[in-house]
Amino acid sequence: MLKRVLIANRGEIALRILRACRESGMETVAVYSAADAKALHVQLATQAVCIGPAQAAESYLNQNALLTVARATGCDGVHPGYGFLSENADFADACRAAGLTFIGPSGDVIRRAGDKAAARAMMRQAGVPVTPGSDGPVQRVEDALCAAARVGYPVLLKASAGGGGRGIRRCDDEAQLSRAYAQAKAEAMACFGNDELYLEKLVLRPRHIEVQILADRHGNVVHLGDRDCSIQRRNQKLIEEAPAWGLSDALRAQMGEAAVRAAKAVGYEGAGTVEFLLDAAGERFYFMEMNTRIQVEHGITEMVTGIDLVREQLRIASGLPLEMKQADIRVSGHAIECRVNAEDPHRDFAPTPGAVSFLHFPGGPGVRVDSGLYNGCELSPYYDSLAAKVMAHGGTRLAAIRRMRRCLEEFALEGFATNAELSYQILYHPAFIRGHCCTAFLEENLPQLLDFSRRAGDEEERA
Ligand code: ADP
Ligand code: ADP
Ligand code: MG
Repeated sequence: MLKRVLIANRGEIALRILRACRESGMETVAVYSAADAKALHVQLATQAVCIGPAQAAESYLNQNALLTVARATGCDGVHPGYGFLSENADFADACRAAGLTFIGPSGDVIRRAGDKAAARAMMRQAGVPVTPGSDGPVQRVEDALCAAARVGYPVLLKASAGGGGRGIRRCDDEAQLSRAYAQAKAEAMACFGNDELYLEKLVLRPRHIEVQILADRHGNVVHLGDRDCSIQRRNQKLIEEAPAWGLSDALRAQMGEAAVRAAKAVGYEGAGTVEFLLDAAGERFYFMEMNTRIQVEHGITEMVTGIDLVREQLRIASGLPLEMKQADIRVSGHAIECRVNAEDPHRDFAPTPGAVSFLHFPGGPGVRVDSGLYNGCELSPYYDSLAAKVMAHGGTRLAAIRRMRRCLEEFALEGFATNAELSYQILYHPAFIRGHCCTAFLEENLPQLLDFSRRAGDEEERA
């Protein structure tokens, strides 16, 4: 087994990794920026080293600093978490070249799966259904127009290197596409350091359904069921649930099987996610992308399967074979996650970083809260706005919804505005309760949800 793991991340995911390492008997080395000197992951690690100033480019994204620390502190493994360098193929290669085990797939696999245009082509070859669109990247505006004419409008222009819901632009007709192309290219370069674009047909009113997979170095690949992440704003996930509601056994099996095929096609190793769109009829599904890392919403899969995904990542990276076979994996009950972000839904979701003056997390049966916050800490403006992930597990979907409502009633965070009240309103929305929301749900219902949430706030003040 690995003995000492460098955690190349921060926030709740750094804590999550640290916990799994400790339970596996591994020591941990945390890194932190000047803005994170008092962070919880720094306090809980075996050892912690400051690697630079607050700006991520000079700290959490500084590959040389990370490798220097890993060597100097005697680490044998590096866990990249999500975001930052987790899908950076060069970093995975650099770790290996430095004699360190990168906890994730090889640089080669990250390169092939992380290039979203190339991944589509590869999946099509492997017989996985792919969203209609361009074959590979569109190099010129003429190629984009040609691909769009073939699949039909509306289309999405997407950055091959995009992620986190950014780098996606809708075009409803030729004129819009012609106009948007150069700008999208320039934006992709500015955001992702890579201006390659590809094109997809817009799937109307789809659900976002993804499949969690695990693959070891010995050729074993299993899937751990699916998650529905359709409650999104601007292509960013807000509420997720496992399993996806109302899929027929046959469709669920097909999607799981397609995800395993996708993992095998790229020679995958570690934990990963294959994302699909399910069409409005709930009949056809299309490969969208593969995330070659642990995901934000992995916890709800852990709740329904009882499998510790980060522990599995550590075992796989240590060269051990998977302990479970597909037939051993059972999904039990239903789990929901709400991402509580430091953002104000009433001010167009502007970030609201600040000091936490009071904090109380819900507890009790079937509840899990993953967060790097504590009473008196600061949520930094330098990084993403995720404040806490609240997860609730119940025997049925309705029990999980009720439990999550109860969790958000108990949840108390003072010091800055969050989206928690908005999520609470969603949990009462008839369409959500019915369980068939598509990715347009939140944006379509936002005015009404915000109105309810505002009135709830006013009532609280009066009370
Ligand atoms: P998940 O797919 O696990 O739900 P998200 O898409 O929410 O993950 O992204 C997880 C984190 O990684 C977020 O902080 C997001 O901003 C960041 N992220 C993901 N992909 C990229 C990327 N290509 N460039 C920059 N940040 C990214
Ligand atoms: P990211 O790498 O940022 O996660 P994805 O390609 O996974 O980007 O897309 C993010 C979200 O954008 C999806 O969950 C979905 O809601 C929406 N989306 C992406 N592609 C399409 C498409 N072809 N049709 C409809 N919605 C899409
Ligand atoms: Mg995605």
